[in-house]
Amino acid sequence: MTAGAPDCLFCKMATGEIPIEPLIENDHIFAIRDISPRAPVHVLVIPKQHVADARDLNRAHGPLLAELFTAAAQVARTEGVADDGYRLTFNVGEAAGMTIPHLHLHLLGGRRLGVEG
Ligand SMILES: [Zn+2]
Repeated sequence: MTAGAPDCLFCKMATGEIPIEPLIENDHIFAIRDISPRAPVHVLVIPKQHVADARDLNRAHGPLLAELFTAAAQVARTEGVADDGYRLTFNVGEAAGMTIPHLHLHLLGGRRLGVEG
């Protein structure tokens, strides 16, 4: 695994420097609840590898993205929102409300979600 970016909150969680209680974790990803949930279920699925945001993705990240989406589907099942439906979102940059510059996939569900934006 690549070393984390200095002073990156999610990298510190990935390396264990900041302890977490992940919903799921494997060698590539971990999932935690958002500390400011905007829906009854609001989980972040986070790659352990530091990628600043979706603008930095390329074809080589394909397997990592598959890990993120597979983990999200697993979380949706365990959180009980898989059948009713849920939203997966990547915010990109400040204008989208991205507050931690380390790629993360939002999973939102547990209520009817409005239109995007
Ligand atoms: Zn990071």
